[in-house]
Amino acid sequence: MDQIELGNIKIEVEQKDIENIHLSVYPPHGAVRISAPKRMDLDTIRVFALNKLKWIKKQQNIFENQARETPREYLTKESHYFLGKRYLLEVIERNQPPQVVLKHNAIVLYIRPNTSETKRAELIEEWYRNELKKIAPKLISKWEKVIGVKSNEFGVKKMKTKWGTCNTKAKRIWLNLELAKKPLECIEFIVIHELVHLLERSHNEIFVGYMNEFMPKWRFYRDELNRLPFKHLEWKY
Ligand SMILES: [Zn+2]
Repeated sequence: MDQIELGNIKIEVEQKDIENIHLSVYPPHGAVRISAPKRMDLDTIRVFALNKLKWIKKQQNIFENQARETPREYLTKESHYFLGKRYLLEVIERNQPPQVVLKHNAIVLYIRPNTSETKRAELIEEWYRNELKKIAPKLISKWEKVIGVKSNEFGVKKMKTKWGTCNTKAKRIWLNLELAKKPLECIEFIVIHELVHLLERSHNEIFVGYMNEFMPKWRFYRDELNRLPFKHLEWKY
């Protein structure tokens, strides 16, 4: 991996067996990466990057502004996402055990009076976790049959930089809790991706071949996952 520097912008350059040069800016910190054909020399790549400098800075600004967005407070009228759809939070206080109920356009959070913000956040998070744990097994067993593999275990956890992981030895799949907020097809994409790892460990051409076969539009869902204004994570497999 080479690196070029344009002022204070560092660009990682990866040269591989591809036809065209690609430039990407990644959230959350605006990291810049270029994929270039092997035959292209570093000076040409530098000129390419220089021509895109304005665009790079614009993208980095967008991410920076996003990062400054006010954090969630778990109060009524706040927007929260579930399966790619936006819901308004409705907080109702009552003297009963807490509960989260999904309505047509709202996520209703029933809490005891004076429940702290931390506790409200935990309740919503638990609800996301439970929902994802209901959805994932159906997707996993559906795709295990199609792909012809069998996983031993799956779990949901908070991950900072990954949407999912697959321990191919233990055949254990972890899904990022944040996926509960994403459209079902995106969750499906991650499930397929991780299951395909049971056939092929690395992201090589064979792997991509399987993805193309099982989910021809996988690139679309990958991009969808990284699209704003959803909470953004850097895309890694
Ligand atoms: Zn992967």
